Amino acid sequence: MGSLISLAEARDHILDLCPAPVSGKVQAANSRGLVLAEPVESLEDVPPFANTAMDGFAVRANDTVGAPVTLSVVGTVAAGMDPVASGIEVGPGTAVRIMTGAPMPPGADAVVMVERTNLLSDGVTVEVAVEVPVGNHVRLAGEDLMAGDQVFGAGTVLGPGHLGVLASIGTQSVVVHRRLVVGVLSTGDELREGPGSLSPGQIRDANRPALLGLLDELGVEAVDLGRVPDSEPAIESALIDAVARCDAVLTSGGVSMGDFDYVKVVLNRIGEMRWMQVAIKPAKPLAFGLVEGVPVFGLPGNPVSSMVSFELFARPALRAMAGHPELNRRNVRALVDGGLERHSDGKVHYARVVVNVLDGQFWVRSAGGQGSHQLSAMAVAGGLAVLPDGNGIPHGSEVEVLLLD
Ligand code: AMP
Ligand code: MG
Repeated sequence: MGSLISLAEARDHILDLCPAPVSGKVQAANSRGLVLAEPVESLEDVPPFANTAMDGFAVRANDTVGAPVTLSVVGTVAAGMDPVASGIEVGPGTAVRIMTGAPMPPGADAVVMVERTNLLSDGVTVEVAVEVPVGNHVRLAGEDLMAGDQVFGAGTVLGPGHLGVLASIGTQSVVVHRRLVVGVLSTGDELREGPGSLSPGQIRDANRPALLGLLDELGVEAVDLGRVPDSEPAIESALIDAVARCDAVLTSGGVSMGDFDYVKVVLNRIGEMRWMQVAIKPAKPLAFGLVEGVPVFGLPGNPVSSMVSFELFARPALRAMAGHPELNRRNVRALVDGGLERHSDGKVHYARVVVNVLDGQFWVRSAGGQGSHQLSAMAVAGGLAVLPDGNGIPHGSEVEVLLLD
């Protein structure tokens, strides 16, 4: 066995080789999950005009002094109406019925909510029960954003709220780091998928849906490249096709020490690969390199290993390629509930743990079977507890945890 390298060395090697992000203009509506390459400035005030926050009556605040008072109702303004074009105005001793979001009519400087008023049966006289100050329930133009404001800086990761803001200021397109296209390929003669029953020796392909899901969560465009048997020509043609369509490719399986582990053989031939044995468990074997300039991650085949390898290597690399300001998931310190056992083997172990917060303190406990084939514990895990080489972490002691949510 070749010598083991540290996680940091493997990760630095990968990050060094990954291409820089490529920026370009995209429709704002299609920008969720992408990272701004240029700041966004507002060209408009939001709200665009002074309007009412309540259903009620637009009044002159001065007319409510000494309430209760009666005012004559001279019109109605609904949301979407232009009171100026309709000739609606609030003069002394008058009021205008107004609905939430409607523009303040000229002359009015406050709104009395409908619950504090009583429209008399003549329909044109309203009793106002309370005195209101100038500006009562009025939302001023530009109170959220002003034209000329920088709304979001470069490096902002665009989420649903950002998309709403972009729409609110009329921004149609943004300059972002382009969305990555990342392919996922499974390898192995034993793999099957679909509803049929398994023949002896066969298992179902679990890695592809898991890796496609991780990519989807990451906000990249995930491409299902299917699965290939343990055959050099099949793996080679699948990879050559993949790098022509993708910005990065993830394979799983075929990078261990077995006789039919052809992924690393093919990658050695068609790319500039480095086959690494990282001092971690799970996810020790990892092949990484460039094929036609495209990063290819040869992740291990065991389902837990492939997901952990994704978290530790592929996620930071893909985030770097996507221009993300933060390459890693959140790390916290947690107390161990029930102990996390391991034996000393020269590697750092990543234990699948359930994470809870009690009175502001993170607690973790084992999520179940810790074998690299036991995906069910990975599925329910909220984090990976980092167990340094040694005999594990006893109950009540502290451990570093990489949160998975
Ligand atoms: P390998 O690295 O190809 O030797 O695979 C290591 C282990 O992972 C073997 O038990 C494989 O059957 C299993 N394995 C490989 N690929 C997958 C997959 N896509 N889904 C589930 N198990 C897999
Ligand atoms: Mg295999």
